Amino acid sequence: MTAEFEGLVAVVTGGASGIGAAIARRLLASGAQVAALDLHPETAPDGAVPVMVDVADDVSVRAAIAQVATRFGRIDIVVNNAGIGAQGSVEDNSDEEWHGVYDINVVGVVRVTRAALPYLRVSPAASVVNTCSIAATAGLPQRALYSATKGAVLALTRAMAADHLREGVRVNCVNPGTADTPWVARLLDSAPDPEAERAALNARQPHGRLVSPDEVAGAVAYLASPLSGSTTGTSIAVDGGMHDLRLRPV
Ligand code: NAD
Repeated sequence: MTAEFEGLVAVVTGGASGIGAAIARRLLASGAQVAALDLHPETAPDGAVPVMVDVADDVSVRAAIAQVATRFGRIDIVVNNAGIGAQGSVEDNSDEEWHGVYDINVVGVVRVTRAALPYLRVSPAASVVNTCSIAATAGLPQRALYSATKGAVLALTRAMAADHLREGVRVNCVNPGTADTPWVARLLDSAPDPEAERAALNARQPHGRLVSPDEVAGAVAYLASPLSGSTTGTSIAVDGGMHDLRLRPV
């Protein structure tokens, strides 16, 4: 692993679990100093600085970003990864649930980016990477609310890329397919037969298995690095081909 992020400071929200923890480890391994901002920061990976944040609370977000800036003196990379799931069709979720999930998955991205922008603008290597989802475009059944939030993150990625292009701040996103994280493990564990459910889930993936969080982290590292210096407003699918109907298993 090269030290491509030597001297740079990265903020990873949701950095204490699953995909966010894998991203934090990947950036640390490549020389970045990493702050893992999380509602439950105590499980942040070794080497990352755990910082408590609730991305649904603007005061909490401003305090967390100020804490990182005070400690490290700069912020170069922001990975907006914190997010929660929601199941059901439009008949199943209340208005309160819609507002609550949107507040975390979408406005959370806005709050963290807004608080970090003064630091990103003066960074020579500024990059924002949002963890979006295949749900943004795939039309997944029983995921109306979740899909709507991730569709919004995709649109927001493009809009922010346009707004901050001339300030030297790139904004991209990754769209993972179903990934092997504690979140998915919790869903499987709640099934009557978790092993059978896992086998069925694997079989539904075009490449026959779940996406590994490290594979998502690899795409994030590329988008965070100067190697992607001419790339902004775009997304990378890390889904085994699931986004392409022709590649889905029949
Ligand atoms: P996870 O539950 O393992 O980790 C999410 C982390 O976010 C947790 O540490 C949690 O404490 C934190 N978090 C939740 N709400 C927060 C809040 N209000 N403020 C701060 N932190 C908060 O989940 P994961 O599977 O690693 O998912 C991470 C991201 O990847 C999410 O945005 C999710 O939508 C996206 N994603 C996941 C999958 C998948 O299959 N796991 C697929 C596509 C996209």
